[in-house]
Amino acid sequence: MYRTHTCGELRASHAGQTITLSGWVHRRRDHGGVAFFDLRDRSGLVQVTINPDLPKESLDLVNNVRMEWVLQIEGIVQLRPDGMKNPKMDTGEIEIIAREVKILNPSKTPPFMVSGDNDLVDENTRLKYRYLDLRRERMTRNMVLRHKVIKFMRDYLDEQGFIEIETPIMFKATPEGARDYLVPSRVYPGQFYALPQSPQQLKQLLMVAGMDKYFQIARCFRDEDLRGDRQPEFTQLDLEMSFVHRDDVLALVEDLFTKMLPAVTPHKKLLSSPWPKFSYREVLERFGSDKPDLRFGMELMDVSDVFAKSEFRVFQSTLEAGGVIKCIIAPRSADMSRKEVDALTEVAKTLGAKGMPTLAITAEGVKGSASKFVTAEEVESLKSKTGAGVGDLIIFATDERKVANKVLGGLRLWFRDKLDLADKDMMAFAWIVDFPFFAYNEENKAWESEHHPFTMPKMEDLDKFDTDPGAVASDAYDMVCNGYETASGSIRIHRRDIQMKMFQMLGMSDEEIQAKFGHMLEAFEYGAPPHGGMAPGIDRLVMLLADEPNIREVIAFPKNQAGRDVMADAPSEVEPKQLKELHIKFE
Ligand code: ASP
Repeated sequence: MYRTHTCGELRASHAGQTITLSGWVHRRRDHGGVAFFDLRDRSGLVQVTINPDLPKESLDLVNNVRMEWVLQIEGIVQLRPDGMKNPKMDTGEIEIIAREVKILNPSKTPPFMVSGDNDLVDENTRLKYRYLDLRRERMTRNMVLRHKVIKFMRDYLDEQGFIEIETPIMFKATPEGARDYLVPSRVYPGQFYALPQSPQQLKQLLMVAGMDKYFQIARCFRDEDLRGDRQPEFTQLDLEMSFVHRDDVLALVEDLFTKMLPAVTPHKKLLSSPWPKFSYREVLERFGSDKPDLRFGMELMDVSDVFAKSEFRVFQSTLEAGGVIKCIIAPRSADMSRKEVDALTEVAKTLGAKGMPTLAITAEGVKGSASKFVTAEEVESLKSKTGAGVGDLIIFATDERKVANKVLGGLRLWFRDKLDLADKDMMAFAWIVDFPFFAYNEENKAWESEHHPFTMPKMEDLDKFDTDPGAVASDAYDMVCNGYETASGSIRIHRRDIQMKMFQMLGMSDEEIQAKFGHMLEAFEYGAPPHGGMAPGIDRLVMLLADEPNIREVIAFPKNQAGRDVMADAPSEVEPKQLKELHIKFE
């Protein structure tokens, strides 16, 4: 028997018991002929004391023991004397007095301290030795949290009558707006499987199959450029329901996450319950983003009317060109230095602004780059419209509506971080609805689906398909939280004629439609029920719940930021024989 207990479970109530533990040496200290080890397993740490009265061969063994060696220890649980208790350790009231020490396996000196801080070690080194990195408390905690989140989802959905069904990884292209990963077929030269960008088609076919309520902890594969916080494969809670309208799906998912928070992260607070629901247009106008961070204010305000008769050339020409003058009010920022304002102007420019007029409201009057060009009357009306007061910095965006929103939306987040405006323990969930159905791709001069091509348009907009595609609204919805899109979903097309029309609108020929999606169209001819669903991203949610800065911290074996597995070294070359079998030659 390797152990009778785990390291982290021992408490004062175990005092006097003889126990056996197995684990890793986390730290070692030697003090006046006595050696102390912190022994670690997944459950935590416990202090083991090696007194000099152990048999000599045991003491000789112990002498060599270093960090990360694997030991088995038999000993007696003993209460620590009062002054020696460590309230910072869960097991800090006791120690183990060793009677026998066995070395199960020595360890080389690790490339970094398991007891150290993540941020002190280069990420590629952590990923190369991920099995050591995962031994660290913070990473173990993340893995346990992820497990709890997934278990909660499974239990909750089971109670609601959902069944978990696996769908194939080797399938056919399922577009979600990215490139496919392809798997060449050995048996059918020149033919390929595609890894699903999501189980979208399969879950819809499960609805046609009468499965009614489906879910899956599903892996999705998208070959995208690796900018930002992306992984080539990631995990979603994929779900789909039959005979539902939008609000049925939203109610279910809202209830799931509302109940999950107290169960898995009781220290996290929900900003509001029920969650607020915004239209796509409204969030762009108010927050300059379709994934707004609602944990703080600083909403965008349209002050075009205040400056309708402005003499300021920038304001004048914007309004003449049909643009808008919008602003945000940054608190405690009227005294921002010239240098800081210049740096911020550069940020505004990268967001698309041509310039960034400002007004600082100070006790001595109005300052800032626009102050010379505005009248006292305009300032007064601006103050009463926006509520700005002494200490505030007013930042303007003067452009066409879309650009002004984007610029101020970006600056709003800049101030969130600078002024620490968002509570990290607040979860500000919200729904975004009423998305446009099509987006016009200026580059390709073509309409594209804003969500994915299986999304249902609002029925009342069906006849605008041909006459005014830009005005068609979709029955799609996003769930957002703290500035991230955490899920998207939609009511689906379940009629062959509408699905066909959709593909045609996207510029596909009838042959192409048949070859790529013939199976879906055919299925819709066999009594497909109305259905809809969504897919919350698990990596991002766990990241938010764990207060981690990126999703790699909550994935056991992620790719690095260049898309490589640096532990196993993948992708890597394969044997010529394998290529031959797959009928692949390189040019
Ligand atoms: N398949 C969609 C996605 O991966 C989610 C959904 O519409 O259910 O984003």
